[in-house]
Amino acid sequence: MAESKPLILVVEDETPIRRFLKMTLVDHGFDFAEAVNGKEGLMFVASRRPDLLILDLGLPDIDGLTVTRELREWSNVPIIILSARGQEKDKVEALDSGADDYLTKPFGIAELLARIRVALRHGEKLTQGIADTVFVFGEITTDLVKRQITRGGEEIHLTPIEYKLLTILIKHSGKVVTHNLLLKETWGAGYQQETHYLRVYMAQLRRKLERDSAHPMHLITEPGIGYRLRS
Ligand code: CA
Repeated sequence: MAESKPLILVVEDETPIRRFLKMTLVDHGFDFAEAVNGKEGLMFVASRRPDLLILDLGLPDIDGLTVTRELREWSNVPIIILSARGQEKDKVEALDSGADDYLTKPFGIAELLARIRVALRHGEKLTQGIADTVFVFGEITTDLVKRQITRGGEEIHLTPIEYKLLTILIKHSGKVVTHNLLLKETWGAGYQQETHYLRVYMAQLRRKLERDSAHPMHLITEPGIGYRLRS
């Protein structure tokens, strides 16, 4: 059975970036569509239902943040934000508004394709309602039903907070999870400023799960934004 190509919509006002994305995406077997401002982007998503959106934050009419918020009222399409350096606050807001990931300009092709693969995979699971019950990264196996973490068959004990943080990262594996979301889901509303909690518990998790906690391979810090689990 021939698989249809995923359709990726790029919403970006800068022609060189659109051109680069078009060339790269078509070259890697995706269908490509483009919009040059936020309104066009919203209309396109409503009419053509793309499989993924690559969305610039700085658009000439309505900004990417507003586009994300409007879209999330009626669409689950995976969204990867494009942003310039120094837009950390906007990136965090976009992620908290429901964007799936972000790329900082300038970005490389390998990074772009990796982000697309992760976002498409999450999008598929969302529509099919699939949840993994066993998750493996590096030497670590996490059985989410038994609530059991093992390395080479040997059990690793996590505290309830450490386990909660890990399961949130697993749920969003490959994608960045903001400080805000981690704090809210682990400690509850009202703790969203306490990013030092995360530093402490992520350090503990790394000591237990990483081969070299000073050079983590899986529990990755995204400075100023949050954390990402790389499998
Ligand atoms: Ca722009």
